[in-house]
Parts: sequence; structure tokens; C-alpha cells
Amino acid sequence: MNTSQQHYDAIIIGAGASGLMCAAQAGYRGKKVRVLDSAPKAGQKILISGGGRSNFTNRQVDPSHYLCSNPHFVKSALARYQPQDFIELVERHGIDYEERDHGQLFCTGSAKQLVEMLLTECDWAGVELSLEAEVCAVERSADGRFLVKTPQQNFSANALVVASGGLSIPKLSSAIGYRVAEQFGLRITPTSAGLVPFTLHVEDKQRLSPLSGLSLPVEIHAACGAAFKRDLLFTHRGLSGPAVLQISNYWQPGEPIWIDFSPEQPLAELLEQQTLLRPNQALKNALGQALPKRLAERICEGLASAEQPLSQLLKQDRSELQQRLHRFQIKPNATEGYRTAEVTRGGIDSDELSSKTFEAKRLPGLYFIGEVVDVTGWLGGYNFQWAWASGHACGAAL
Ligand SMILES: Cc1cc2nc3c(=O)[nH]c(=O)nc-3n(C[C@H](O)[C@H](O)[C@H](O)COP(=O)(O)OP(=O)(O)OC[C@H]3O[C@@H](n4cnc5c(N)ncnc54)[C@H](O)[C@@H]3O)c2cc1C
Repeated sequence: MNTSQQHYDAIIIGAGASGLMCAAQAGYRGKKVRVLDSAPKAGQKILISGGGRSNFTNRQVDPSHYLCSNPHFVKSALARYQPQDFIELVERHGIDYEERDHGQLFCTGSAKQLVEMLLTECDWAGVELSLEAEVCAVERSADGRFLVKTPQQNFSANALVVASGGLSIPKLSSAIGYRVAEQFGLRITPTSAGLVPFTLHVEDKQRLSPLSGLSLPVEIHAACGAAFKRDLLFTHRGLSGPAVLQISNYWQPGEPIWIDFSPEQPLAELLEQQTLLRPNQALKNALGQALPKRLAERICEGLASAEQPLSQLLKQDRSELQQRLHRFQIKPNATEGYRTAEVTRGGIDSDELSSKTFEAKRLPGLYFIGEVVDVTGWLGGYNFQWAWASGHACGAAL
């Protein structure tokens, strides 16, 4: 082991989205910066994001698209580095992109181009990068310098930026960021998997297993009042799709969720329309005109009028149907956890950090950016926008 120590203005733990953005900004401002990453490649989560095309930002970014115990915390960084700033960077590097629904921007080619772009920026800014350099310990000396230890080499720096990301996809993640925070006495908001599919209790799993593979637009609601109109996918394990990932950020264990399977058409209108068309068709078939047949059967299950002509629909069945169609209640068993989650909810308590620079209020020189902080974005490019914005703000302050 080489125990010699190189000294830097700033060491950044993590060559991911926020770390590379921060490094390039600080480097351009003349700072001597070194980025350390345990992985053999930089930007591993960027590479796997958006099915390899990375949903790198969103046209509409607003503080309301983020969860944080202090909703004002995200405002400054998001205002100072906006989606348009990142889009201009992408365009300067000649990377083609496309807009999909809900304002989501994706690379037309490959997410690899984004990582190459960030590495090029770091290179131009004179940033030094070490891969396969796992930070295993951090110390602070009496003169306020940080000592950063990897199995190969130790480094010292005036500033330490923790950009080590969250806990999702365990083989690409580590808890070093939370450990460093704990070591220096910073509070951490409890962490859990976010943007993640739900698993179901055995009875629900059996009941809904015939729907496995079915995808449809719904409106989904959480107990706290959050609601999203997106697609839901029934899987052999439970519930997935954009609607479910979105609501998982707002779900707490033990709570139910509610699904509206016909958000654009109220039941009364649907029945009226079908009665006009074919008054003698069975209720089940009428519903099957508006919804996938398998789902219509499941919704009508056990109703006395399911096989009756529409004109003979019983009053009590109509109110039961109303519930099942527009407010289908289900209590998830759990989430699939970090194994398939896109993000980590919770993290370094925002009260511990400056919202302008991300420096720890109680420990000058120590910074936390990106997903390791208690900020979680919606699905749709918001988490990368947070990584770019927090990385940019921190890089400008180092
Ligand atoms: C499957 C998947 C798909 C996603 N798709 C999208 C999407 O399309 N749009 C979107 O906005 N968000 C998406 N996300 C979320 C997004 O990837 C993260 O929010 C974002 O990467 C966070 O940036 P970060 O810089 O905080 O952390 P990361 O990008 O995760 O970077 C952290 C870096 O720290 C390194 N590291 C960790 N521990 C150590 C250590 N001890 N020593 C040295 N280095 C260490 C890691 O190797 C990693 O390179 C997706 C996530 C996943 C898992």
C-alpha cells in the first residue's frame, strides 16, 4: 500500500451524476479536485437509467416535484440550475435527445453519451478521477483537513464532498455517505426504497394473478392525498408501472392505496352510453367495452347483476361497482425494496445543510449532494435534475 498523501482543495466521493457535475464546476473555477469512485466505470446509474437512454431531466421542474422534510430546501439550487441549463450542455456536446410524455427528456442514442459528456467536462476542467478507489474511511485532522482513505492510497483535502448516492441497486451502492454523516454527528432522516413496485399479500396476489401482464391508465391515490394519473402494470409479484412507482414515494407500510380504473369516464356516463348502444348486454360485457376484459370480469366478480342485462342493474350493485371501479382499495404487503427501487427516500437531514452550498452547518468543509441528501424526486427525470442542480451549486461554492 502506498501511504503517501496527495493534497487537494476538494475530494469528491462518487463519480455519479452529482459528483461529476460538482467536480467540473469546481475544476473550472481553478480548484484542485479529485473524484474517487469504487466502481470500475463512472456514472453506473446514469448508464442503466431510462432503459439505457436516461431520462436526464424534465421540461417542467418545480419544487413540488420533490419530497423533503423541508419543502423549501430544494428551491434555491433548482432555481439556479434549471433543466434548460442541462439541455444546453447536452446540445453543446451534440447529443441528440427526444421528449416523451409528461415532459420527460431522453437520449435518442445512449446514456453512455451523457457519461462521456460529464467526463469530458471534468477533463477540460482539470479534474483528476480515480476509479476502483473505494473510500473506506474519513477522518478530520485538528487543522480542519479531511483525510480520505482508500485501500490503495490516502488523500487529504480542505473540503470533502459526499456524492455517494442512495441505496438502490445494492451492487451499485454503498452506505458510506450515511456513515460519514453519522460519524460527524449529522442527523439522518430514516431511509427506505422509493420509486419502487409493490408486492401483495397472498390473497390479493391470488385474486389479481389472472391480470398479470395487463397495463392500463389509472389514477392512483395514497392515504396522504397524493395522486397520479399514469399507467399501472399488474405483475406476477404485485403492482408496478409509472403510477405505482410514483405513489410508492408517498406510501407508508400498512397503508392502503386506491385505484381509479376509469379516471376519464364516470361510471354513470359509461353505463348510460352502453345502455344506449346495447340495453340487453350483460353488465360484465358493458364494462368490458371500456376496460380490458380480464379487469372487467374481476371488477364484476360476485356482483348479483354481473350477468344481467344492463337495464336490470341492481341499486346495491351500482354503488358497489362505483367503489370497485373508481376507488378500488388495496393494501400492499411491502415494496420490492432496494433491489428494484430507483431511489432512496430520506437521507441526510436538510436542516443540517445550507440549501445554497450544501455545506454542513455544523462542520465547515463537509458537503453532501445528490441522492444521499433527504430529497426524493418524482419519476420523470426529476432525480437527475436534483443531482445536476445540487452538484452545480456545491461546485460553485467550493
Ligand atoms: C434502475 C434505475 C433507473 C433510474 N432512472 C432514472 C431516470 O431515468 N431519471 C432520473 O432522473 N433518475 C433515475 N434514476 C435515479 C438516479 O440514477 C439517481 O437519483 C442519481 O444517479 C443520483 O445521483 P448521485 O450523484 O447522488 O448518485 P449516483 O449517480 O448513484 O453516484 C454515486 C456514486 O458513488 C459511488 N460510490 C458509492 N460508494 C462509494 C465509496 N464507498 N467509495 C467511492 N465511491 C462510492 C458509486 O459507485 C457511484 O458511482 C434511476 C435509478 C436507477 C437505480
